[in-house]
Amino acid sequence: MKILLNNNDLNEALYGHTNIGFVPTMGSLHKGHISLIRRSLRECNKTIVSIFINPTQFNNKKDYENYPKNNKGDLLILEKLNVNFVFLPKKKDIYKFRNSKKILLKKKDKILCAKYRKGHFEGVIDVMNRLTKMINPKKIFMGEKDFQQLFLVKRYIEKKYRSKIIPCKTIRDKNNAALSSRNLRLSKKDLNIVGNIARNLISFKKRLKKTNNLNKLLLNKKKELIKLYNIEIEYLESRDKFNLKISNKFTNSKIFIAYFFKKIRLIDNF
Ligand code: AMP
Repeated sequence: MKILLNNNDLNEALYGHTNIGFVPTMGSLHKGHISLIRRSLRECNKTIVSIFINPTQFNNKKDYENYPKNNKGDLLILEKLNVNFVFLPKKKDIYKFRNSKKILLKKKDKILCAKYRKGHFEGVIDVMNRLTKMINPKKIFMGEKDFQQLFLVKRYIEKKYRSKIIPCKTIRDKNNAALSSRNLRLSKKDLNIVGNIARNLISFKKRLKKTNNLNKLLLNKKKELIKLYNIEIEYLESRDKFNLKISNKFTNSKIFIAYFFKKIRLIDNF
């Protein structure tokens, strides 16, 4: 495994390779990341994993500063997986050129997390644009756990580059809590509660097949979750999984939730 610390290392290492799989991460790797990496190793000749905590996608400075870091542990995991390259860029490596056009979300995209995290997805799309330009991968593996991120990045990148974004299923722990680097900030007991919330929504979704009054059910479910688990819910919505428009139907829809539990913001979809 080659560790690439700057753009020179990157260009040298990738020269001549055409079938590159890319897994962008912010580190503190868990089984969710590992599933993306394994898929890339299966489908591509060379796999590169980036670890970069991108400052421009944090709308809260404290959140950026407190984001978990574990480079040593991450490198051990990547070495064991037999990843070809790990890219550990500095801010100056990524932000060395100015964009010709400022990345702005359209009004219709300012929904779900975009409504509550101002500038977040602009930062994500910007860094993904830069990384894709630098790496020129054939495939980029991203998790459905961050469904709106996957949706917006796929639309932007596939319009501009030949790289394909490959959606990968959400990996959960044995209690059904979606794995997330942010879970490191929760106790075992708290994580059980996160699992209970996920299970509650999974069974809710299963029961929806017969309903045509989804909005009212969601409103009641929101009240119930707040009372049961003492959480603050930003949104609980049903949306079409292909265009993210509000959906009242069961078919092709997903339930999206963002909530604060013990001051940690968590998102999931079912
Ligand atoms: P992050 O390090 O949080 O920026 O995540 C890097 C990539 O891993 C993103 O494409 C995420 O969607 C994906 N990811 C994070 N958690 C999970 C999970 N539990 N299951 C599948 N993919 C995940």
